Amino acid sequence: MVEDEPGLVMTLSDRLRAEGHEVDEAGDGATGLDKGLKNPYDLIILDVMLPKKNGLDVCRGIREAGKHVPILMLTARGQVVDKVVGLQLGADDYLTKPFDMMELVARVGALLRRAEPRLASDSDAYEFGDVKVDFKRGEAMKAGKRVTLSAREFQLVRYLIDRRGEIISRETLLQDVWGYNALPETRTVDVHMAWLRRKLEANPRVPEYFLTVRGMGYKFEG
Ligand code: CA
Repeated sequence: MVEDEPGLVMTLSDRLRAEGHEVDEAGDGATGLDKGLKNPYDLIILDVMLPKKNGLDVCRGIREAGKHVPILMLTARGQVVDKVVGLQLGADDYLTKPFDMMELVARVGALLRRAEPRLASDSDAYEFGDVKVDFKRGEAMKAGKRVTLSAREFQLVRYLIDRRGEIISRETLLQDVWGYNALPETRTVDVHMAWLRRKLEANPRVPEYFLTVRGMGYKFEG
């Protein structure tokens, strides 16, 4: 929730938590954008009038980074322009202040349900940073140049993108991507992950997308 009015933040957070949601807060647009780019949120509630960076710029920044997270915008009464621009920039829905709490809860529920079953690989392509993965053609491009991935690497990329934000153990990857669980060669996963990073990360030693979670496995963030 990116909102700068402490009273509203508290009321909304309490209500959403009571509905079973986890809530993370940002009190200004710059923090909101930063968090929105780094964390795999299920939904972003975004006020338009914010210090440091307005909600429209935050929305644009999140969409330009290729994030498909649902965004619910909070606009001030009478700011029709904000609604129109917000929707053009990729917001999924908006609520005009002051709004009824029930209305917010209902909109949040609807957006989460709508977002749920979509796998990235159901669409034709997925982009993160300067990388574009074309699921139909089985190709990847980095900064406009074709990157050659082996079939296994491509399967691995696709598997991780479909589960972005989730930590996946080496054992699970072996079983689901390689299709066997008899060989406890989890090192295989590490080797392929290192190759993937070399091909798709700007700096393979400091990966931004294909992350190692110490003692647990890997996850894709993007
Ligand atoms: Ca505000």
